[in-house]
Amino acid sequence: MERSQLARLVAVLGREFVRRRMHAHAGKLRVYYLALRRGLATTGRSEVDIHWSEELVVEWLKLLRIPPYESAYRVRTPQAPCSRCKARPDNQGGSFVTERTFPGGWKVRCINCGEVWLVLEEK
Ligand SMILES: [Zn+2]
Repeated sequence: MERSQLARLVAVLGREFVRRRMHAHAGKLRVYYLALRRGLATTGRSEVDIHWSEELVVEWLKLLRIPPYESAYRVRTPQAPCSRCKARPDNQGGSFVTERTFPGGWKVRCINCGEVWLVLEEK
């Protein structure tokens, strides 16, 4: 995406990290933001060698359901079967892995078919 648009989304994501007290993530993102603004990120994928990239920004926007990515992943309950292959959760013989956790929820991947979705903690 365009660098100015990416920088705007990075700022929104940074505020959300702080709101959820994800300070290590916020710190890395701040360095990424500065590098981005000063043209130190590689062209194309806008990558900086702190293990942050445009791809990771978008992934976190999806995980934290920040517009315009609020509907990128479906939200399901912990006991819901996979919507694609109908595999059941682990305790019922299926094989789901938790791919990423964050304050407020986690991302699940179905080993069987690769489908991913979010489980959010009850408020
Ligand atoms: Zn599946």
